[in-house]
Amino acid sequence: MEERNNKPVVKLISKPENILKTVYTACRTCYSADSPININESANDEEKMLKLIRNVVASGHHSTIEHIQLSFAISNVSRACTHQLVRHRLMSFSQKSQRYVKEKGQFDFLIPPTIDKNPELREKFISFMSNISDKYQEFIDAGIPAEDARAVLPNAASTSLVASLNLRELIHLAQLRLCTRAQYEIRTMVKAMCEEVVKVEPWLKDYLVPKCEFLGFCDEHKSCGRKITKEELFAKANI
Ligand SMILES: Cc1cc2nc3c(=O)[nH]c(=O)nc-3n(C[C@H](O)[C@H](O)[C@H](O)COP(=O)(O)OP(=O)(O)OC[C@H]3O[C@@H](n4cnc5c(N)ncnc54)[C@H](O)[C@@H]3O)c2cc1C
Repeated sequence: MEERNNKPVVKLISKPENILKTVYTACRTCYSADSPININESANDEEKMLKLIRNVVASGHHSTIEHIQLSFAISNVSRACTHQLVRHRLMSFSQKSQRYVKEKGQFDFLIPPTIDKNPELREKFISFMSNISDKYQEFIDAGIPAEDARAVLPNAASTSLVASLNLRELIHLAQLRLCTRAQYEIRTMVKAMCEEVVKVEPWLKDYLVPKCEFLGFCDEHKSCGRKITKEELFAKANI
């Protein structure tokens, strides 16, 4: 059976030099007579910085985490996945164009795991992708511009992009897309983005979690059972 990599390739390519200190400076400036420069230059106690940040963020003062801008290089994800990602309006994107980049030969595609694990359906899926590729090529050979020939390309077609966002938006993205209600592929991709950030800033692990971890309960209509639902919680508290 042909081996295929169905996993997103994600790399954090840009981040500020001192994330913890910057967030701390933003938080402390709100409550201090001292100048932000002094606050920043004298900050050296990591526990103290984390304690203030935790309190400020828990109080909902989220402008303090907007100062951190992060950029990711992402590839081997489907157009279906990026169509969901681009719904996040506070992110910035630069994505491989299907207008300017013509597919040559078989285009790359992602096989959803539910199909990938069924040998018969997998074979049909691959054969269907091959048929689409032939049709695409037929249109290109007939002089149809790539921007129109791409109309036959599927949601499964692979794409790549650079995506940037601030830390507040990454936490929001994690809350929505690490939830088991989100589709497997965007969940896997956002998980990889969070892992890249936690690798260099381990203190952010507690923030890059599905929303139920943040809220302490599940507010989804259909719960996966990981946390008590909002309704169950309210019933318990007699609200
Ligand atoms: C499990 C799941 C299923 C989904 N299913 C569907 C679906 O079936 N159909 C569909 O169309 N979409 C669907 N979506 C997409 C969803 O509706 C949102 O468009 C997407 O998750 C982006 O979320 P957001 O608007 O909170 O975030 P962002 O666009 O990242 O914005 C972040 C936050 O900024 C604020 N904000 C941004 N823009 C505005 C604005 N214009 N006005 C006011 N406040 C703003 C809001 O507080 C928002 O939460 C789904 C999402 C998930 C996670």
